[in-house]
Amino acid sequence: MTEAADVYLDNNATTPMAPEALAAMSACLSEVWGNPSSAHRLGMLAKERVLAARRSVATLIGASPGEIVFTSGATESNHAALRSALAAGAPRRGVVASAVEHPSTLALLTELESRGARVTRVGVDSDGLLDWERLATAVDDDTALVTLMWANNETGILFDVERAAAIAHRAGALFHTDAVQAAGRVDIDAGRVPFDLLSLSAHKLHGPKGIGALFVRKGVPFRPQTLGHQERGRRGGTENVPAMVGFGAAAEISRASLGADAASMRSLRDRLERGLREQVPALRIHGAAAARLCNTSNLRVVGLESEPILDRLDRAGICASSGAACTAGGTEPSHVLRAMGLSREDALGAMRFSLSRYADEAQIDRTVRIFAGIVGALLNTTLESMS
Ligand code: PMP
Repeated sequence: MTEAADVYLDNNATTPMAPEALAAMSACLSEVWGNPSSAHRLGMLAKERVLAARRSVATLIGASPGEIVFTSGATESNHAALRSALAAGAPRRGVVASAVEHPSTLALLTELESRGARVTRVGVDSDGLLDWERLATAVDDDTALVTLMWANNETGILFDVERAAAIAHRAGALFHTDAVQAAGRVDIDAGRVPFDLLSLSAHKLHGPKGIGALFVRKGVPFRPQTLGHQERGRRGGTENVPAMVGFGAAAEISRASLGADAASMRSLRDRLERGLREQVPALRIHGAAAARLCNTSNLRVVGLESEPILDRLDRAGICASSGAACTAGGTEPSHVLRAMGLSREDALGAMRFSLSRYADEAQIDRTVRIFAGIVGALLNTTLESMS
């Protein structure tokens, strides 16, 4: 069996459970096993827990509990948002998205397109900045939805979702944002940014996997994709109460410690980048010129592929990623880096380090030291093989 990592720097793929969320969830698993739809006391107890969890998740994003629909995760939330907006927006059939959305969104866009939707994918420049002019001209009176991720899972680059919402609304379209990577790292406030729909996933903020939420703003039309009376008719199926409770607990901690967490992650991420830049002259950091999440660093070493480096890091007890976990294992280079104009070869060199509130200076310094050692050895081997 593989040993647990000493240094876990792949928090954009998933995060470890917060101890508080784990405790709340396990207590719920053993004690609160009633069906929230049952009228007896066990049902009522479960229903109360669901209500409390819904309140905590709503509070994390400045929403009211009635605006939260629990789902199985952000893949489902994204799909529900897109399908619902197209159904509710008919006869409009346009969807405008960025070309660097998460694969869960991009896959659905291709499917919707084959069924008659008019999809526009807006590109980014070499810094990862969105082509706003293209976005503005793509949105018209046939657009049902504009969907734009708040933070990119691979590079951490932040998009101006407020600006995108304004463009969508001017044209009478709905605005959805995939805020999976932003939650717990950026202050999300439904009272400040007028998004209509927003996707969340618990396992990116130290909650359990298999549970997420879709925020549906009060008054925004919503067409359920799974029928049933649960979630006020917006998503059928017996509630996963322990997962909701775990999500609620994780959301509460995230909200309480957001400021401190963000400051700590930013300082450690900057320490990592500074250390690596000093020790590895051929380092390139992707998206460094754009506004980025506090926890993410996507980089490459000129002339080296990511795989041997990541493999050696893993053997030294350090977990990082070659890009989105959803595409890791394949040899396809990242669509995000390709959209930023990187060659296939350069994109295959990309590595992502993503921190959490549990990272510390000793872990970062160890990562820098080991990374520099690995790169030095690999560059020497490359030089030797050329001579
Ligand atoms: N959107 C983004 C930006 C993500 O990073 C992820 C997780 N990789 C998802 C959506 C999908 O979330 P889930 O795993 O909850 O389905």
